[in-house]
Amino acid sequence: MARAEAKNVTALSSSFNDHIRPILDAVDRLRQLKVMQEGIELPTIVVVGDQSSGKSSVLESLAGISLPRGQGICTRVPLIMRLQDDPYLSQPQLQLEYKDKTIPTSEDGIADAIASATDDIAGSGKGISNTPLTLVVRKSGVPDLTMVDLPGITRVPVHGQPENIYEQISNIIMEYITPKESIILNVLSATVDFPTCESIRMSQQVDRTGERTLAVVTKADKAPEGLLEKVTADDVNIGLGYVCVRNRIGDESYEQARAEERKLFETHPLLSRIDKSIVGIPVLAQRLMQIQAASIAKSLPDIVKKINEKLSQNISELDEMPENLGSMGDAVRVFLHMLSMSKESLRRLLIRGEFDEFPDDASMHATARMADMLDQFSGGLPSDCPSADERFLMEEIVVLEEAKGINGLPNFLPRNAFLILLRRKVKDMSHGPGEFVQKVWAYVEEVVIRVLLHHSENYPQIQPLIRRASQNLIGNMRNHSLNFIRETIEMEMAADYTTNPDYLKKWGELMGGHDAFTKNYFGQSSLVLPGFGEVDVGHLRQYAAMAEQAFDMRMRIMAYWKIVVLRLVDTVGLHIIYSVNCLVEREMEKEIVGDLVGPRTAGLEKMLEESPATAAKRERLRKSIELLKESKEVVAGIMDRVVTTIN
Ligand code: GDP
Ligand code: MG
Repeated sequence: MARAEAKNVTALSSSFNDHIRPILDAVDRLRQLKVMQEGIELPTIVVVGDQSSGKSSVLESLAGISLPRGQGICTRVPLIMRLQDDPYLSQPQLQLEYKDKTIPTSEDGIADAIASATDDIAGSGKGISNTPLTLVVRKSGVPDLTMVDLPGITRVPVHGQPENIYEQISNIIMEYITPKESIILNVLSATVDFPTCESIRMSQQVDRTGERTLAVVTKADKAPEGLLEKVTADDVNIGLGYVCVRNRIGDESYEQARAEERKLFETHPLLSRIDKSIVGIPVLAQRLMQIQAASIAKSLPDIVKKINEKLSQNISELDEMPENLGSMGDAVRVFLHMLSMSKESLRRLLIRGEFDEFPDDASMHATARMADMLDQFSGGLPSDCPSADERFLMEEIVVLEEAKGINGLPNFLPRNAFLILLRRKVKDMSHGPGEFVQKVWAYVEEVVIRVLLHHSENYPQIQPLIRRASQNLIGNMRNHSLNFIRETIEMEMAADYTTNPDYLKKWGELMGGHDAFTKNYFGQSSLVLPGFGEVDVGHLRQYAAMAEQAFDMRMRIMAYWKIVVLRLVDTVGLHIIYSVNCLVEREMEKEIVGDLVGPRTAGLEKMLEESPATAAKRERLRKSIELLKESKEVVAGIMDRVVTTIN
């Protein structure tokens, strides 16, 4: 039996060297390339266990070397251990790798080397870190395995340990055991009750059924009673099974330790009853190699897929990054292009009313929003001439009273009275147009800045300049509009003038009530007049001299008012359309070019300096693409083997 097994092992090891070893090498290579940083998980055997359960001892037994063991926490950083069988080596070759350093060491020096590398990574206190340390062991006869030893779990900080040591350690452990590619090697001491182990609790959180958990029971020599029952009862869901071992004790050599272990499981009255297929370090090594190979075979297709995905994702991200501008010529070209793109966008949004660039953002459908504002403005103006006195014609009579002179015949309508009334009414509504242009320009400013910032998003360093130039520009346009409005209002107040035939038409309609009015206002208390309906006239009896003049003036001003309001809306509307046109077609370019290319601001020079964040991102993408390409090659070299060998 033992001989058959030994023969199997040899056969396995030769097939191993030919076929599986290159695959392991490839995975190790990927690990070295740090593809994990790209979010690609590699199949990893992760060693977990409560403090002093014997994790380091198990690794030591597998590697056949001495590791720091014993009191306190010795393992303060993740230790990646790569064991590589090299039959041609007479002496083991050891080296430590961390933070881009490679430190050759020896079997005698390993404990000190790990301790000082740990100090280097995690500080010389008792703190821990998740930066891993890699120990490469090349030795004749070691199993080809890559495993990670993690700090042991402690509930209570010992003297000098940070208060939150438990959280820190469990975070590191979780980080390593959560990926479903990880194989959890749960180290349990035979001296404890398995269900009470913290490491069991943790591994069950991420691997409930235990399908990727293998248990190693250490210290079989210390607690042989009931061990068989414990591993057969499997109270803690260990899907991959148990292996019971006895590690090196005291100053034993590796060979002595193996001999003692063999003897223990063969001769001990209780331990010898445990099936030989689940005892001893060589069995553990064999199991781990099988599990590792199966796990790699299972994960590789997915790894290849993820490498490809990440690669193309990063390549397109890099492609989309802004050009790194090398010269002033480049900067000018890119800047002018940016400007003409912005101009075209604004032309579409503000002038042509096309909004395909912002289909779902109604606030950018600029012509419609400006039309809304114009509607609101014109709707806010009084379309019928307002009157300051509710009583019919009384406002007119008061004005006539005050405007009367010592010359002039009584039945002539005094022009000055008409103009006084007109000015008063125009003045009363003159804030409307001013508010309207303020509002329109505030809106246009938003649209312009948004479009410009959008087209310059790759050059954040010049965005403040662009924003400032736009604000200046719109500020000027707004002032210009306000002046224009002031002038327009002043013109309306300066004189009464129109060639619009609607004036006479409307006046004629209103005057249709003239005869009825002059005949009857003296005797009746109310009258029905065209354009007014029923109006009270009783109060006019005492103003006999003025009533007819007042009537005449009222009808004129009412007819003229319609003309004034329409003319104002048309003029202001046309002015805004025209100004926005000028802004897009002429002023914007002038202002922004002047501001950014001018010697004062040195805006274009700014484009040449890439922002540190962009430079860093570009660098990160380049590195990551390089790494993924290399990884892709590494994997490509072994994929066909995986398909033909492991399955
Ligand atoms: P770790 O904290 O989990 O890494 O545990 P260590 O490997 O440092 O072991 C803790 C203590 O248990 C050390 O003193 C080891 O010598 C001892 N130990 C580990 N395995 C065995 C074993 O199988 N038998 C005996 N008797 N002692 C062991
Ligand atoms: Mg340890």
